[in-house]
Amino acid sequence: MKNIRNFCIIAHIDHGKSTLADRLLEFTKTIQVTSGQMLDNMDLEKERGITIKSHAIQMEYTYKGEKYVLNLIDTPGHVDFSYEVSRSIAACEGALLIVDASQGVQAQTISNLYMAIEHDLEIIPVINKCDMVSANPEEVEDEIVELLGCKREEVIRASGKTGMGVEEILAAVIERIPHPEGDDDAPLQALIFDSVFNSFRGIIAYFKIENGVIRKGDKVKFFNTGKEYDADEVGVLKMDLVPRNELRTGDVGYIISGIKTSKEVKVGDTITHIARPCDKAIAGFEEVKPMVFAGVYPIEAEEFEDLRASLEKLQLNDASLTFQPESSLALGFGFRCGFLGLLHMEIVQERLDREFDMNVITTVPNVSYHIFDKQGNMKEVHNPGGMPDPTMIDHIEEPYIKSSIITTTDYIGPIMTLCLGKRGELIKQEYISGNRVEIYYNIPLGEIVIDFYDKLKSISKGYASFDYHPNGFRTSKLVKLDILLNGEPVDALSTLTHVDNAYDMGKRMCEKLKELIPRQQFDIAIQAAIGAKIISRETIKAVRKDVTAKCYGGDVSRKRKLLEKQKKGKKRMKQIGNVEVPQKAFLAVLKLD
Ligand code: GDP
Ligand code: MG
Repeated sequence: MKNIRNFCIIAHIDHGKSTLADRLLEFTKTIQVTSGQMLDNMDLEKERGITIKSHAIQMEYTYKGEKYVLNLIDTPGHVDFSYEVSRSIAACEGALLIVDASQGVQAQTISNLYMAIEHDLEIIPVINKCDMVSANPEEVEDEIVELLGCKREEVIRASGKTGMGVEEILAAVIERIPHPEGDDDAPLQALIFDSVFNSFRGIIAYFKIENGVIRKGDKVKFFNTGKEYDADEVGVLKMDLVPRNELRTGDVGYIISGIKTSKEVKVGDTITHIARPCDKAIAGFEEVKPMVFAGVYPIEAEEFEDLRASLEKLQLNDASLTFQPESSLALGFGFRCGFLGLLHMEIVQERLDREFDMNVITTVPNVSYHIFDKQGNMKEVHNPGGMPDPTMIDHIEEPYIKSSIITTTDYIGPIMTLCLGKRGELIKQEYISGNRVEIYYNIPLGEIVIDFYDKLKSISKGYASFDYHPNGFRTSKLVKLDILLNGEPVDALSTLTHVDNAYDMGKRMCEKLKELIPRQQFDIAIQAAIGAKIISRETIKAVRKDVTAKCYGGDVSRKRKLLEKQKKGKKRMKQIGNVEVPQKAFLAVLKLD
């Protein structure tokens, strides 16, 4: 136990966590030198530069003649996965706090840091990318000293690119981070901080032992789910799984126990022995609940069962994805999917497309609403289409978030205007250093899921970072805005919006849909309505377009090619009544300027 160090790396996205982790793995000869990064496996992750699922890896390192075992626990870097971050942090005694030498402290640097401090982790501040010409390590050091109240000498300057500072980081991990504590003789208590799905072995759960010993073949119980298993295999995580006969207090390892789906294993749960259980679970366990919902529909009705099978497969290794069948008058049979956040939603959509080749229409995302009737009964609704008749509703509650935005003084004005437009309430404003400011807002989550990130990015020219945490439900004056095409309401286009914004939104929706729906061989009326009241209208004029007209004579093959081409172009269209509606029209509300 004395020679074990368990640590994680916390950083804002793109500050170089994965690159630096690679340098540590190379320096300790855990991996051979390669060009790519080792910790992020999935293609998608690479493209986005985001570590979606956390992993852990063990290094061996000899320092001043003594052998140490260093367990690096990788944490996901995005707000959507903050519960998983908190469990990874709970498994560590220390953290490297990485800050980009040109970017300085950002929103996720701070929110991850607070989480680490909450769990009493020893923090080792590291300024990364010191090789860059734009690096400004002095100023960033000021920010870090201000933030942590640490000494200047404690801040390590490094570069994941050149390898500068890597040796110093390893020395600091050993010297400054305390070894794990606990009682080998106490009943087993191991914290599950992650799990992965393996198509041959089933679910592999990663844990850190707080107390006790686990041996191969032990009969174990997962405290919160109450499920019992045999520990078929336990071991440590190097580049591969390395089986061991036993793991002891302070160790980080894995267990394979015949579990088939990730739903059975809850991150944050406690593993204990059936014969001699611990008397309470490790604190901090939560059931993660989806925050954002959207309808996912196959374009071809007969692909419904394929879509179900694909979603089930995705769920095998993504326990936070939920789905249930629903039907829409406009879109037919599909599923209402629940996601942790917007990024999670995008990832699922992309995986459906890439890995399963599913051709789907997704509806505008929304949040979960609490609908209270006149008798005081509450119903949770995940779909504007599922709203009861307005006359039955007493009031509606919607989820709020507490958000933090870090930016420079130049952009405070526009950002405040944006937040105000999103019904945000300013909580406070704090200077971090020089001209950099942190602004806190209470904002309805429903406003964030609609084009907030993109707007924030564009008005701040990228100089704003954003982070949020759920902050309860509040009563709001929400109304359902319906869209009608040729007099027929299209349920998949309904949204819930604040009464003060409804007229403006209805008008802009009609205008946008006019742009997005191609002209057809008849006039199309687009209307926005609240209840029975029409509040806006646009018309798409008919066009007579015969695409084969210019293929004179009997050139049949050319004609057929053209028709096929046209058919392909239509793939992402959905027939609603007699109107062909393209996929992007269902997301029109996201594109309002
Ligand atoms: P993460 O999102 O924190 O894991 O960041 P990555 O490790 O993926 O790095 C983000 C980007 O910064 C990548 O393009 C890296 O190549 C680059 N990068 C990382 N560390 C350094 C560094 O020390 N110097 C320079 N110049 N670039 C770096
Ligand atoms: Mg990364």
